[in-house]
Amino acid sequence: MVGELVRKIGEIAMIDLSGLDSNVYLLGDTVIDTGTGFNFVRLYDALKQLKVNLNDIKLVINTHCHFDHTGGDGYFLKAKIAIHENDAKAVEDGDDELVNAGFFDGKAKPRKVDIRLKDGDEISGLRVIHTPGHTPGSICLLDEKKKILFSGDTIFADGVGRTDRPGGNEKDLEESINKIMELDFDVLMPGHGEPIIKNAKKELDAMLKG
Ligand SMILES: [Zn+2]
Repeated sequence: MVGELVRKIGEIAMIDLSGLDSNVYLLGDTVIDTGTGFNFVRLYDALKQLKVNLNDIKLVINTHCHFDHTGGDGYFLKAKIAIHENDAKAVEDGDDELVNAGFFDGKAKPRKVDIRLKDGDEISGLRVIHTPGHTPGSICLLDEKKKILFSGDTIFADGVGRTDRPGGNEKDLEESINKIMELDFDVLMPGHGEPIIKNAKKELDAMLKG
């Protein structure tokens, strides 16, 4: 099912390209995750609605290397590409297995990574939280002032990330979930599915205990 193409949540635009694509978030001239790259027309329409030019985007931050989050990176020709150092090589090598391309009938394109992120870094006003488990270089991004957490595929409104793909590790994921639950946030912007607009930690806590 295809949802509403663009939703505004405060200053953040959430773009829903298709059920296969990751959520794409736009914050000023920064994009978090880019989908599979299969739905360029919808991406273009979304940016047009938001009165943003592809070339206005100066930074793409990938929450992890998977194809459904990085496949569209190449459309942003003027953007620097940032990803955690542990997932950077998979992107630079175009490693179909590690980026999980076959799962989407895709083919990874080797792509230069400009910024290798580490836990605790600050980028575009967001704190990098290394949360391995779904992939070795999975990150969450925390807006500490607005208490918004972009959680990639580590945690969703209705569950946690899978660990059965190459590079996945269940124990790491468990530790990462604990790390997330110690952060201070009210809003959850996950890599797929619905965001949680308020009381996100309370809702996640109930979900995890459920
Ligand atoms: Zn993933």
